[in-house]
Amino acid sequence: MNTALIAAAGSGTRMKSETPKVLLPLLGRPALFYCLQAFDASRSIGQITLVCPRGMTAVFREAAGQLGLAKPLTFAEGGDTRTQSVLNGLRASRKAEGLVFVHDAARPMITPGVIDDMAAFALARGSAVAGAPARNTIKQADASGRITASPDRNSLFEVYTPQVFDFHALLAAYEKAANEGYVPTDDAAVMARAGFDSHIYELPWQDIKLTTPEDMTKLEAVLAQRQGTRLRCGTGFDTHRLTEGRPLILGGIEIPFEKGLLGHSDADVLTHAVMDALLGACNLGDIGRWFPDTDPKYKGVRSVLLLHEVGQKVKEAGYGIVNIDTTVICERPKIAPVAARMSAAIAEALGIPAESVSVKGTTTEGMNAEGRGEAISVQAVASVARAF
Ligand code: MG
Repeated sequence: MNTALIAAAGSGTRMKSETPKVLLPLLGRPALFYCLQAFDASRSIGQITLVCPRGMTAVFREAAGQLGLAKPLTFAEGGDTRTQSVLNGLRASRKAEGLVFVHDAARPMITPGVIDDMAAFALARGSAVAGAPARNTIKQADASGRITASPDRNSLFEVYTPQVFDFHALLAAYEKAANEGYVPTDDAAVMARAGFDSHIYELPWQDIKLTTPEDMTKLEAVLAQRQGTRLRCGTGFDTHRLTEGRPLILGGIEIPFEKGLLGHSDADVLTHAVMDALLGACNLGDIGRWFPDTDPKYKGVRSVLLLHEVGQKVKEAGYGIVNIDTTVICERPKIAPVAARMSAAIAEALGIPAESVSVKGTTTEGMNAEGRGEAISVQAVASVARAF
């Protein structure tokens, strides 16, 4: 199977941080998560190997564990040089056949679509080295700064990662490089030394590598823009009957009222509609699929606990919650005086700011079941953003 080998063993000294740079947050998530999720989501990749800084495998294992990746993830320990680190990763990739994508963990802009396209390119051409035409004029100079060559810019490319090769050819080339003490800065150079041609695959962007604190700002701007175009919405609707002899639980709080809602759980109709909106936004089905009301486990359960679980599912699916808006439809009780408390309770269950959750009320002017005081209904809309 095709393998993604993610090199995270760099020391990151230019970041001036104790934490490995790829574990620093970009938009609130470790930088490493972006490329891991991209490779996990690509249909061209069967397994992922993560090369960790020496002595930090446990830290990286814990961090990556939060992602709940679908594909097998193997950990390897970095060596003294980039050559040794990549070689360790290749050797640890036991089920590797076909292509290997060597990728720098400090490059979070990669997407599943580009990975799949690079796989097709590499199958056709034998290799794929991510790059973009050089934008600046580049000179070669000697140690004194005297310019010794002015290569034609039209023939120059910046190269990035992924760099994609036949797995066994790259492994053999790295074995040779390690034996000869050859330590270049990319994989195409290792392949060239072993006698193989490599081909540039033009990325649709100038890539940014997380190297300095300024790069974090640039990358966050790019990733935020992408998230903005990767918004998804979901809707939820629920109705429960009002009945005597039950407490009224709405939006995770108890509201003093002469009736309560009837249902298998606490019948929190507002929380139910929010859950369905979130699940819908992520295309994860509905609450009946995850919490069937035929399961005695959910009898009388507090719905906000289930909402918390839904929040986890959203996160595991790779989404962040942007906002939730709801309309509670009933004649009584009055919603406005308790709306802020309900927003806060829903937000707390999801671990998002209260400002991201709006709760409003409306009546049906005495008409329908809601208007006659027989039921409360809720409409909800949720938006989520994919992280890559
Ligand atoms: Mg319900």
